[in-house]
Amino acid sequence: MGAALQAWILTIGNEIINGVITDTNRENISRELRSAGIAVKGMTSVGDETRLIGDALEYAMSRAEVTIASGGLGPTEDDKTSAAVADFLGVPLRTDQEQLERIEQRFRQWARPMAPSNAKQAMFPETAIPVPNDYGTAPGFMIEKDGRIAIFLPGVPRELIRMLRERVVPAIVQRFGMSEQVFRARTLIVYGLSESKLGEILADVAKDEEDFHLAFLPRFPVIRLRMDARGPSAPDAELILDSKQALIEERIPENIISRDSRQMEQVVLELLEKKGLTLALAESITGGMIGEMITRVPGSSRVFMGSIVSYSNDMKHRVLGVTEETLSGHGAVSHRCAQEMALGALRAGNAAVGLSVTGIAGPDGGTPEKPVGTFFIGLAAPDTVLTRGFVLPGERGWVKTLAAMQALDLLRRHLLGYRIHGTVEDDAEGSASGGRFGPGKEG
Ligand code: ATP
Ligand code: MG
Repeated sequence: MGAALQAWILTIGNEIINGVITDTNRENISRELRSAGIAVKGMTSVGDETRLIGDALEYAMSRAEVTIASGGLGPTEDDKTSAAVADFLGVPLRTDQEQLERIEQRFRQWARPMAPSNAKQAMFPETAIPVPNDYGTAPGFMIEKDGRIAIFLPGVPRELIRMLRERVVPAIVQRFGMSEQVFRARTLIVYGLSESKLGEILADVAKDEEDFHLAFLPRFPVIRLRMDARGPSAPDAELILDSKQALIEERIPENIISRDSRQMEQVVLELLEKKGLTLALAESITGGMIGEMITRVPGSSRVFMGSIVSYSNDMKHRVLGVTEETLSGHGAVSHRCAQEMALGALRAGNAAVGLSVTGIAGPDGGTPEKPVGTFFIGLAAPDTVLTRGFVLPGERGWVKTLAAMQALDLLRRHLLGYRIHGTVEDDAEGSASGGRFGPGKEG
């Protein structure tokens, strides 16, 4: 979204610079501004040093119409914000009687004596306008220079957020004559495309517009697509989201896992339940990860029979019935083994659907024909028995997670009647290929 009022965020405090506390103020300020349609151009953090505060303020005000600063308004010697701003403006500090009385009043309320140093908190640059603080002692203040404004707020997050929301943002909106805008957001969860691929496919949708912004938020192994829209009313904003979502759905219909926060495992369970199917797993490379993912979903017991974590060849043979021939002739990491594991899981779990994964997670155990990251997925369902091979190299944890996700995605695709990716037995015994996620030969 463009053409909005531009803001800069300035957080002040030695604790932030030294890594003693996390600067959550910048995130909170940014979110509050953004939700009012104010565009944040940048952020700066400096320690409690008069010169640095002045320099940072000059930089911020030269770049944005509004600067929001936090911190350094306390009563102690190390709180230097007021003095620094007075220096910057070339004006003296003066005590604001009204704010001083408010502070005194506060201490009376708490029945606590006020330290003389607290009077310092009512001292602002002469030309500043105080911003009352209903939640703590330190008031904030606003200054103006060359038609631009800067607002200084206390560092305490709870006070800061409320002052922003209740006083500062409304004042900015009014002062800059911003029209009332309503914001709406929607998130799609996408799996099976790299961020760069997704960026290519959605390049035109992702182009920033006045009233729309699309963000790619990778959360391995999925990417969240966040759509933000604004309009004069909620239905207007929703309409923009509808039309953009329709565009996205048209381009990547099969890769959208959910249009809310539902994850892969939940979506798969819902599909199974709708079709009245039960599921059993045979997991080798994933070591039980798929079962763990599935059992995170409340009510999974209605669909999920269980998982056999069969790591050794011996267990694959004895518990799942994988034949000695398969194990010695094709190996445990093979189409044939995946197929027999899926059928074994189906039998052992007395389930309608058996799903299996077997592969090489690394870092050792790879061969030229079956490098680390090679895995095979088997599916035994009422209407089909199939296997697919993949090579998705990476660090051990990644490979395991991808193998688990890919197995669930294969089942999801099967249940929805979508294309099933991966290589098939003829061309792929050992040489599974086909890019990061790309479809291999269809079988
Ligand atoms: P006080 O009157 O409490 O001294 P102040 O305006 O001087 O307020 P600081 O002294 O900078 O603010 O910070 C007060 C407290 O607020 C800090 O101890 C810290 O816990 C918290 N705080 C300050 N700045 C930040 C920040 N950027 N992010 C998160 N918390 C912060
Ligand atoms: Mg302080």
